[in-house]
Amino acid sequence: MAKKLRKKYISSGPMPVPKWENVLVVGAGIAGLEAASQLLSLGYKVTLIDKASYAGGHVASWHKLFPDRTDASSVITGLLSSIAGATLLLSTEILSVHRLGEGFAVVLSGGETLYFKAILLATGFSLFPAEKKEEYGYGVYNQVITNSDLEQWFNEGNDPRINDRKISSVGFVHCVGSRDIKAGNPQCSKVCCITAVKQAIEIKQHFPDAEVWCFYMDLRLFGKKYEDFYISAQKDYGIHFIRGRVSEVSEAIDGEVIVKAEDTLNGRPVKIKLSLLVLMAGIISRNDIQPLAEDLSVMMDSDGFLLSRDNITGITRSQRPGIFYAGTCTGPKTIPESLAEARSAAIDIHNYLRGL
Ligand SMILES: Cc1cc2nc3c(=O)[nH]c(=O)nc-3n(C[C@H](O)[C@H](O)[C@H](O)COP(=O)(O)OP(=O)(O)OC[C@H]3O[C@@H](n4cnc5c(N)ncnc54)[C@H](O)[C@@H]3O)c2cc1C
Ligand code: SF4
Repeated sequence: MAKKLRKKYISSGPMPVPKWENVLVVGAGIAGLEAASQLLSLGYKVTLIDKASYAGGHVASWHKLFPDRTDASSVITGLLSSIAGATLLLSTEILSVHRLGEGFAVVLSGGETLYFKAILLATGFSLFPAEKKEEYGYGVYNQVITNSDLEQWFNEGNDPRINDRKISSVGFVHCVGSRDIKAGNPQCSKVCCITAVKQAIEIKQHFPDAEVWCFYMDLRLFGKKYEDFYISAQKDYGIHFIRGRVSEVSEAIDGEVIVKAEDTLNGRPVKIKLSLLVLMAGIISRNDIQPLAEDLSVMMDSDGFLLSRDNITGITRSQRPGIFYAGTCTGPKTIPESLAEARSAAIDIHNYLRGL
């Protein structure tokens, strides 16, 4: 019986791969790149567009990634080499789109009209504009930078706000523009607690004599190895963690900044002088997503991210047949989560195009 079944299985041959069907992936961040790679290996023709002049999205600006301190550039290089068979169009976006038969006629900003059977949105996120939290003085005080600015300094090493000064004490403010109804974003950004731990360690490696503080509301360290990283930050690097919201930042006469906070574990106010203050700006929806969502007739969630069919089994599916999502366009995610979703979205598209 087993032999018979096996024979039947072999004679059914490999699954037909629909080579003629085109899929459009919008956004060449890590989610779009991974989805394109998976769709190519399933036999589809893939066109990948990005409105930026480079691929990799936000990860192209990061230096070392939590929790293993992997080079961000190596992740992008690996993904780019896996999409060699796709058409990658940079500095390109959708001008207009309409349903045509079972697919979509899409006019791209280059002027050409192309036909696609399915569209995957992997348009990512925006970083919360830290200057909106006026009390922290970003854009006012030279000593105040963001998590993203610090990544850029780790990569390029040429920020005068860090280079031209003696760095003897550094603070990290968690939840900047996240979990903050007044700032318009009640959600947790998921990645900034662990990014603060990672960056605090990296600062200690650059400036071993500096005292480093993290000001947090709650520490949300949910991922594999995150807790180890946090323990190492305290034990191996002597980083101080203070539970309390920073209430005020002002400039001292000697060019440093003074940070006032309430230590809610000790019930005492704290006042610390710092050479550098790093704001952990959160993940918010892209401010340019609405026109695209309207063009494609997909819906947005109450928090401005793209609305999934549901948040358990249908995160990668929109309400509209033929349009799918991957990565942070539906909400804050880590890189492994974004990559896993991209693979899942590729399978969803494959099943959709096979009529399943
Ligand atoms: C400071 C910081 C540090 C982080 N560090 C880590 C880390 O160490 N490890 C980790 O696991 N995660 C980290 N993350 C999270 C990580 O950045 C995200 O998981 C990842 O960037 C998500 O990728 P994405 O492709 O969904 O979105 P994005 O990186 O935002 O890419 C989206 C792409 O879509 C393009 N796009 C947008 N709209 C359009 C359009 N209309 N047409 C064409 N193209 C469009 C954009 O130009 C962009 O290239 C960090 C996040 C922050 C904020
Ligand atoms: S991950 Fe941490 S810093 Fe970021 S919003 Fe959530 S609690 Fe705040």
